[in-house]
Amino acid sequence: MLRRTKILATLGPATDKPGVLEGLFKAGVDVVRMNFSHGSAQDHLDRAEAVRALSKKTGRRVGILADLQGPKIRIARFKDTKVYLNEGQDFALDINFDPMAGDNTQVGITYEPLALEVKPGSRLLLDDGRIVLDVVNVENMRVNCTVTVGGDLSNNKGINLLGGGLSAAALTDKDKEDIKTIGIMKCDYVAISFPRCAEDLNEARRLLVAEGCYAGIVSKVERAEAIVPEIMDEIILASDAVMVARGDLGVEIGDANLPAVQKLLIKRTRELNRVAITATQMMESMIENPIPTRAEVFDVANAVYDGTDVIMLSAETASGKHPIRAVEAMHRVCVEAEKQRSVRESDHRINIQFERDDEAIAMSAMYMANHTKIKGIVSLTESGSTALWMSRISSAIPIFAMSSHESTLGKVTLYRGVFPVYFKIDSSQDHAEVNRNVVAELRKWNKAKDGDKYIITKGDLNGVEGGTNGLKVIVVGQGLTP
Ligand code: PEP
Repeated sequence: MLRRTKILATLGPATDKPGVLEGLFKAGVDVVRMNFSHGSAQDHLDRAEAVRALSKKTGRRVGILADLQGPKIRIARFKDTKVYLNEGQDFALDINFDPMAGDNTQVGITYEPLALEVKPGSRLLLDDGRIVLDVVNVENMRVNCTVTVGGDLSNNKGINLLGGGLSAAALTDKDKEDIKTIGIMKCDYVAISFPRCAEDLNEARRLLVAEGCYAGIVSKVERAEAIVPEIMDEIILASDAVMVARGDLGVEIGDANLPAVQKLLIKRTRELNRVAITATQMMESMIENPIPTRAEVFDVANAVYDGTDVIMLSAETASGKHPIRAVEAMHRVCVEAEKQRSVRESDHRINIQFERDDEAIAMSAMYMANHTKIKGIVSLTESGSTALWMSRISSAIPIFAMSSHESTLGKVTLYRGVFPVYFKIDSSQDHAEVNRNVVAELRKWNKAKDGDKYIITKGDLNGVEGGTNGLKVIVVGQGLTP
């Protein structure tokens, strides 16, 4: 059975091992993530090359997403790699302290304005909240704290401020260097970490275009400020996809607030015709174990019920012991979750007046597909917009986005329920010939047999963006469609 929810898997040392990438393809990975927080530029370029070669070999277009590190604020290093902090003891973070010489009373930091942006009573969360420090006072750029939750603390761990409010710009000098590598890599999506507002995303888009990269922009929602309603909408509208980055977001807003925020973000993202990604710790125990916990099974299924387009694997595939099994586990949980009635029905945009004909045709196709016996929908698309509109409607009917543009085929890899198919239309072909070729392509992939009814949406003028102006119903093996 075709799975509609897309699986995004992070590549890393575990997927570099012989046969593992092939295994991920077989298990059904849809998009891979290059995490620029780890590894060298050459590692990412080599992995992208390997993915493209396999896509070509297997005929299955797998998308590529580059994820910029962003301004993760970190402590510097300890002279003995790590220290143990006791609850109740004093501990200081100091920009002027030797960055290699931390001990169990103080450590250097990499973010200069920290001392200016916290005040007595501010709560700092280190190492994804495992260590909690309460600020006592600030003296000459030195932040003096009391340890509220203690434990091991090692080199370079991240720092978050509970409630958000640290002003660090979303794009760092390292990100700007990495954008040059991404320009060479030519990926389908670029994820921006810690955006504060639409302008952070617009700036990233401008820098990418300057490098010849027209990738879709993914905003990672991971700051408390980004979920304030007006800011949330502006961030979603400036993005092509939105990631619920539950790791850092959970640290900033508190873990108990995450489920409601996940539901809200996914709903709003889909309402605004953007793509939703749910990320972080979805199958965390599979870093070590060959099967997920029951709680992880529920987490994946619940994200499907929430309407996410994509679910993401991080360390599970990048450095875990069972990368292929993690993708297989996600696949089987999604397939079962998608059988639920609520996941297949939609009242999305039912009361909306559409401004564009192509959008209205996309909606009509979905309405018809959901209310008659249709095997699938074929969208002959230049930019992928028709397929995106269609995929905002919950349905059990597969949408085949057929295009000759590699960039469009790459973009649709993230859209829920949309499957990319390379398809070339020659301007000399008439409509009957195009229909015949569509059916031949579906038959080639075992997606059509005699009697199957398909909807095809297309434009009169081949090769024109935004030109979809027709919806046709064909029955395979009858009339003009052999
Ligand atoms: C997150 O914080 O949840 C996240 C996805 O970002 P990263 O993996 O870059 O920490």
